[in-house]
Amino acid sequence: AKHAGGSWYELYDAGFGQQETERLALETAMHRAIDRDEFLLNYQPQVDIRTGEIIGCEALIRWRHPELGMVSPAQFIPLAEENGMIIRIGEWTLRTACRQAKEWQRAGMPVRIAVNLSARQFHQGDVGDTIENLLREFELPAELLELELTESILMEDSARSLAMMGKLHRMGVQLSIDDFGTGYSSLSYLKRLPIHILKIDQSFVRDIDIDADDRAIVTAVIALAHSMKLRVVAEGVESEQQLDFLRRHGCDIMQGYLFSKPVLPEIIPTLFTTETER
Ligand code: C2E
Ligand code: CA
Ligand code: CA
Ligand code: CA
Repeated sequence: AKHAGGSWYELYDAGFGQQETERLALETAMHRAIDRDEFLLNYQPQVDIRTGEIIGCEALIRWRHPELGMVSPAQFIPLAEENGMIIRIGEWTLRTACRQAKEWQRAGMPVRIAVNLSARQFHQGDVGDTIENLLREFELPAELLELELTESILMEDSARSLAMMGKLHRMGVQLSIDDFGTGYSSLSYLKRLPIHILKIDQSFVRDIDIDADDRAIVTAVIALAHSMKLRVVAEGVESEQQLDFLRRHGCDIMQGYLFSKPVLPEIIPTLFTTETER
């Protein structure tokens, strides 16, 4: 491949649309980003609604691009899925999260870290082996790792997905369904999955105060999850009113700007301190 500096303008002059040009430039830069240490993880606390205790953190990737600044994962993760880079990025993410979980455990803060898995990572790489090796390498108890899967991952190749989930479940890793309610999984299918947690998509939480349909969906998902002995996480909780509603309906865990935005790992211990002072 050509070096980035020249090719950007050459392609532009050759009549490529600006979008394709930007996309190519991003792809080229992405290939170098791991070696250049441009990725980092932020962590967003997940809080037990009854006790106010931090019970875990979701790891969210960030890319500090030397010229563009912070590039949103919503922008580069889909691209990485398409070009296959997601396998390397995903392994980097898992490794970094496991190392962090071990560090916190050593410091007397056994915080579970939830890592997002992309579809391609789940179907193409042997994510079960990768994780088994990482847990062994870092001597990390499996229950300190959670994997967030989306409904679409599970629909794609259901026999293989089920087998992989079974393997991870037997290892003791926690499994959650992310963005629940936005996909098409049938309830009978859900029942067969070896999962522990449902994460209600933030689109349902956002308008809880003004939209009766969203309130009905959230209430129903909580009841459904509890009837299947699953815990429920509400994402995107931004207001006390939203939290009140969730608490009254028995939602177990909250995650959102109301408690904290995703932050650098060194901030997490300070949030524990505030929590005990409350
Ligand atoms: P997601 O897994 O649904 O993550 C939740 C997103 O909601 C995050 O956006 C988070 O910063 C944001 N968020 C959290 N609390 C609030 C809130 O109270 N209000 C609002 N409006 N937003 C909130 P982020 O970090 O930009 O990530 C976007 C998406 O990119 C994630 O959605 C996930 O699908 C993907 N992603 C992020 N990190 C990774 C990763 O390491 N691997 C993979 N495969 N995907 C990732
Ligand atoms: Ca997630
Ligand atoms: Ca989500
Ligand atoms: Ca999402």
